Amino acid sequence: MSAHIITAARVLIGHGATHTPGAVVVEEGKIAWVGPTSDLPGEWSNLGVGQIDLPEATVLPGLIDAHVHLAFGGAVHPPAAVPATTRLDVANIIRAGLAELLDAGVTTVRDLGAPHYTDRDTLTRTYNRPRVLTAAIPLTVTGGHCHGLGGAVDSIAGIQDMVAANAAHGADWIKIMGSGGFTTGGASSPYEPQFTDTQVAAAVDAAHDHGLPVAAHAHGTAAIRQAVAAGVDSIEHCTWMTADGFDLDHGLVREIADQGILVCPTINYLARSATGRLPWPVRRDHLRVMLDAGVRLVPGSDAGIPHTPLGRYPHSLPAYLDLGLSPAEVIDLATRRVADALRIGHLTGTLAAGFTADLIAVPGDPTRDLDQLTTPILTVAAGKLHHSDATPEAEEGTRA
Ligand SMILES: [Zn+2]
Repeated sequence: MSAHIITAARVLIGHGATHTPGAVVVEEGKIAWVGPTSDLPGEWSNLGVGQIDLPEATVLPGLIDAHVHLAFGGAVHPPAAVPATTRLDVANIIRAGLAELLDAGVTTVRDLGAPHYTDRDTLTRTYNRPRVLTAAIPLTVTGGHCHGLGGAVDSIAGIQDMVAANAAHGADWIKIMGSGGFTTGGASSPYEPQFTDTQVAAAVDAAHDHGLPVAAHAHGTAAIRQAVAAGVDSIEHCTWMTADGFDLDHGLVREIADQGILVCPTINYLARSATGRLPWPVRRDHLRVMLDAGVRLVPGSDAGIPHTPLGRYPHSLPAYLDLGLSPAEVIDLATRRVADALRIGHLTGTLAAGFTADLIAVPGDPTRDLDQLTTPILTVAAGKLHHSDATPEAEEGTRA
């Protein structure tokens, strides 16, 4: 792989710092140099170094979606439908999703649940793709939320075995369905815990014994409380919903903040206009309470579920402006801060020499207009160049 120099009107390197104009040198999948264009060392002007000049554009770290389901493909009842499809169908859905993510400027995702190791199997065979942290098969109870993915366990020994099997298949996280959900049907209530306190604690202990963090799917307050007591590492959804309203527990919010537990609120591009069960004004106020209390929010879209395509992740980010964040702070949240939270902040999320070359270019200045993130003109994932509107043949040419 040869080197590329990318110059742009602005290079946002992370921590709010910008080079105007700036340059990034990508070599062997890594960032070799970043700085003001005027300081670019002469050694890089050798023959064989590709030059990409983007005089109007902004280069910034690639986006990170902390909650996706690559294998779901937007099916109305994905957890039930997936076992009925063949492994090849699922692999094709995953590959199409990975390409869609590159088109959208997303260079890392955390995949929080796929059926029967289809995610691990497909990823090992897919070369040009974003980084994927996978939870493999989520733990649930018999007949519980997403049981169709193959992770129903009803005993401590079963929980420990499933955690060990996921670890053996290369899982990066362990996912436990702490409460029921909205996609499984009547048998699974989002407002109630699925497991006993002892079972959740056993899952967390087993995961931590394997060196893996735990993400707990938890809508209702009882399941959130159980997950916090068990010492999980991240809480997904965290909607504080009850059967007939909401029950945000301020003491519990304080505990989540004090324990450094991540909250991924699964905001998609439609969240801001939501008026139904989870109206945006209520959701927004809950998120503000958590943010003000010092809870570490990580953006994720739950892409893969119905009406939530993987490529719409950038369109979900303006919702965070409603929490009082500036566009620059939202960019920092969706890059450096989420990378740190997912324990890969030493690899990605920042543009600095030695980091993996995960970066994007967008047409204008996203620190003035966050919508610029929705139209990336270039995505570089682990050093591999991907032009959103390019044919595969054209892309081969840029790799020379
Ligand atoms: Zn999910």
